[in-house]
Amino acid sequence: MTSVLTLPPMATARRADQLRTSLADAGCDALLVTRLVNIRYLTGFTGSAALLLVRADDLVFVTDGRYGEQSAEQLGAAGVAATIEVSTTMTGQQAALQAGATGVQRLGLEAESVTWAQQRRFASDSFPGTELVPTAGLVEGLRGLKDEGEVARVRAAAAAADGALATVLPMLAARPEEREVALALEVEMRRAGASGPSFETIVAAGPNGAKPHARPSTRRIERGELVVIDFGAVVDGYCSDMTRTVCVGEPTSATARRMVEVVTASQRAGVAAVAAGVSGRQVDEACRAVIADAGWADAFVHGTGHGVGLEIHEAPRVSSASTDTLMSGHVVTVEPGVYLPHEGGVRIEDTVIVTDRGCSPLTHAPKDLVVA
Ligand code: ZN
Ligand code: ZN
Repeated sequence: MTSVLTLPPMATARRADQLRTSLADAGCDALLVTRLVNIRYLTGFTGSAALLLVRADDLVFVTDGRYGEQSAEQLGAAGVAATIEVSTTMTGQQAALQAGATGVQRLGLEAESVTWAQQRRFASDSFPGTELVPTAGLVEGLRGLKDEGEVARVRAAAAAADGALATVLPMLAARPEEREVALALEVEMRRAGASGPSFETIVAAGPNGAKPHARPSTRRIERGELVVIDFGAVVDGYCSDMTRTVCVGEPTSATARRMVEVVTASQRAGVAAVAAGVSGRQVDEACRAVIADAGWADAFVHGTGHGVGLEIHEAPRVSSASTDTLMSGHVVTVEPGVYLPHEGGVRIEDTVIVTDRGCSPLTHAPKDLVVA
C-alpha cells in the first residue's frame, strides 16, 4: 500500500507568503479565500467548511463547530500559523471575519467562486465599509507550479493507476461489461493506496468510444473493437489522469487501425512539444496538426490537455484558446483524440511534468493497443 507517511512533505506553510506577493497587483491588501481547494492548498485543511482571510502579516481561518479540532491538527501539521476562529453560527463567523478585516482597505474576493448571495452578505454584513475587489486565479496560478511534495503525490496517484490497469487488462478477454472494468480499476487503485478515483472512470467500447466522456455501461466488450479507458487516482488529495485505447485482438476495422496510428503520432508530437516557455496553444497545435493532416480535424472535439493537481482540471490550459505559457513545475496532460460516430473513438493521454528542456511522464502504463 502507498502510505501517505512515505510521501515527502509539502511546502504548504510558504504558500501564503507567495500569494501575498500578488495581492498589490490584484488591487487589494488582503484576500478572502472562499474556494475550499484553495484553502486546502494554503493550509492543509481538508474539511468541507472554511473561509481563510489572508492578511499582509497573518492568516485568519474561520470554520464551524465540526472542524475545530481537525483544523487545529491539520494547520499545525502543515506548519501553518493562523488564528483559528470556530463558530457554529453564521453570525459568529461573520463577526470573526469582520474583526479580521479591521484595517483592510481593499479586500479581494475570489470572483469565480463567490456566489451572488455570498457577495451580498459579505458587502452588507461581514465587511461594510471595506471595498470589495474581484480577483481571479490568484491561488490557482500558484497551484499550477508544483513543489516536490506535490509532484510525489501526483506520481504516486499515477503509479496506482498504472498498476490497476496492468492488473485489470487481462480480464478484457472474458467479455466483461464496461462498468465491470471501471469498477475493477477503481478497486485496484484503492488497493494500491488511492483514496478513490480522480473522476468518474471512463470505459467506452466500440461505438460508445465516439463519445469522449461516455459513462461505463452494461455493454460487453467484444473482440476487435476499440476500448477507450480514461481514469485516474487520488493520493493525499492529488489526482492523476491517463487514457489508453486498447483492443482484444487486432481491430477488425481498417479505419480503427488508422485512427490509432494517427492519435498515437499526434500524442507523441504533443508530448515532444511540451517544454518550459512553450505556450499551451502551441502544444495544442502540435497535436491538432497531425490529426488535421489525416483529414480528421473535425473529429478532435476537445482541447489537448489541462493542468492536474488538487483538481483533475486546473491551470494551465493546453488548448487553442489557452493564454498560458508552460513553466517548469507545471503538471499537464496531453490527450488528443479522434471520435467517429458509429466507428468509435481513440484517445491517448499522459500526465507529464514540464521541465526546462521538455517534459517527463508521470503516467507510465504501456501504450500497446492489443491487450489479449
Ligand atoms: Zn483523462
Ligand atoms: Zn485529462
